[in-house]
Amino acid sequence: MAGEFDIGEVFHLPSNLKLNFEYGRIGLDKHRMLLLHAGAFGSLRVELIDTLGIERARGVLTRMGYASGKRDAELARKLMPTMSDEDVLMVGPRLHSLEGIVRVSPIRTDIDIASGHFDGEFLWEDSFEADVHKEHFGIHHESVCWTQIGYACGYTSEIMGKFILFREADCAGKGDRQCRIVGKPADDWDDAERDLSYFKPDHLADQLLKLQNEVENLRYSLDDHFALGDMVGRSQAFLDTCDLLRKGANSHVTVLLLGETGVGKEMCARALHSLSPRANSAFVAINCAAIPEELIESELFGVEKGAYTGAQQSRPGRFERAHGGTLFLDEVGELSAAAQAKLLRVLQEGEFERIGDTQTRKVDVRLIAATNVDLQQAVNEGRFRADLYYRLNIFPVLIPPLRERVDDIELLIERFLGKYATRHGKRVSGITVPALDALKKYSWPGNIRELENMIERGVIIVGNDQRIDVPHLFPCVNIGRRESAMTGAIDLSGGSSPKGDSLRDMVDNALEQSTSFEELEALMLETAVERAGGNLSSAARMLGMTRPQLAYRLKKRN
Ligand SMILES: [Zn+2]
Repeated sequence: MAGEFDIGEVFHLPSNLKLNFEYGRIGLDKHRMLLLHAGAFGSLRVELIDTLGIERARGVLTRMGYASGKRDAELARKLMPTMSDEDVLMVGPRLHSLEGIVRVSPIRTDIDIASGHFDGEFLWEDSFEADVHKEHFGIHHESVCWTQIGYACGYTSEIMGKFILFREADCAGKGDRQCRIVGKPADDWDDAERDLSYFKPDHLADQLLKLQNEVENLRYSLDDHFALGDMVGRSQAFLDTCDLLRKGANSHVTVLLLGETGVGKEMCARALHSLSPRANSAFVAINCAAIPEELIESELFGVEKGAYTGAQQSRPGRFERAHGGTLFLDEVGELSAAAQAKLLRVLQEGEFERIGDTQTRKVDVRLIAATNVDLQQAVNEGRFRADLYYRLNIFPVLIPPLRERVDDIELLIERFLGKYATRHGKRVSGITVPALDALKKYSWPGNIRELENMIERGVIIVGNDQRIDVPHLFPCVNIGRRESAMTGAIDLSGGSSPKGDSLRDMVDNALEQSTSFEELEALMLETAVERAGGNLSSAARMLGMTRPQLAYRLKKRN
């Protein structure tokens, strides 16, 4: 049949195929056609596969071929109104050849359009798509003539009025000598599911949006869940602590967080809360050392109107506000004797009274306490109640100091760089190798808080698109003496000699610049308070003095 007519004559090609070079149009009947480089199509194919993956690219190309075949079928019907559908059907292969795609010859055709029967087998010689695929990707393990299959399906289905699925039994793209295709109604194939899936458009944009939402939600729930924000690390010490926190989170037990100042106790407390069944209730934090001794009781337990001069309003304390949730008591070692007694009662009975009130109130609060003093020693010295200590010390978690988490320093720097570059609107390129080295060797008396402050300072000082360097991080150090002073600071834990040297350097330096003793003292006091994040007890410990002594000196200076 197909060989019985000349496609050029049937299509009246001399009159219907218009090559209008002057107007940049090639027309077949009223349809605008394109003369494309097969190589350009090859590039598109590569791009599709690279961006969408091979399965999605195959789908896109198959559907493109289908659309093309369907249009050709419509065109053929229009141009050959007197021809039977069976004959129009056989024009498809000729058109496919005419368009330069592939040379098609029928092997077997058993077709009855009226009854919907279709069984066809065709030989494809010199497939352009197999060529293009092999050129870019080599021999494939499956057939590769996806647009061509799409075309065959599109053309045939349009004429048949039902979906006819073609498959490549052989394909030059997978190493066969030529391509050979077989077509049958979709239902007549046993395992057509995968082939059929290429004809269904998948809305990648929707899926991308959905995935993007999922990522956002995950990121949110991660941050939220762990409140881990700045809690990053991979060191064993850090991972062990996280493990312990997770285990503690599942119970209602009181947790006691131990560790030096600045190790991130509040962050751990928040993480514990978010991992616990109370995550959706309040997390209330209070730093006992930051509140004057005479006010701590009213802060914790609330106050009734008229309880004392100045108590003009009744107000709930932190325990009431944390009802159903978690209360974090930082610096619990600083509590007054009266507050300690009241705290013990809440822990034992779950009840208390507001100051100046007779009504007993009940609360359901999970307590997390933290301290950087040796509570056992405080007990021995009579400053802390032994019974309260045992109540608090049921599930102690020691948070390692930063100097034992050297492996985490780089991650923490990355985190803080991102955080403060955003906050201060800077573009920072990172940190220099010497600066990173210096930070890894530093002894970190102020722990993570000190590192965070240092990185923030570096971000503020460094120019846009620059890397943070040693002088940005240690600006107090005289440049000429940087090396020796740095070494001294770095080796604080390593022995007394470098520290002695650097101290001597510092004193030499101060005397050379006629620095007064008062200035030096002021600088030490201020720096200690800054490093302790305003916590006078910690600052006093750094300076080797008591909190009242430090408070007195600061007051005197002001
Ligand atoms: Zn092929």
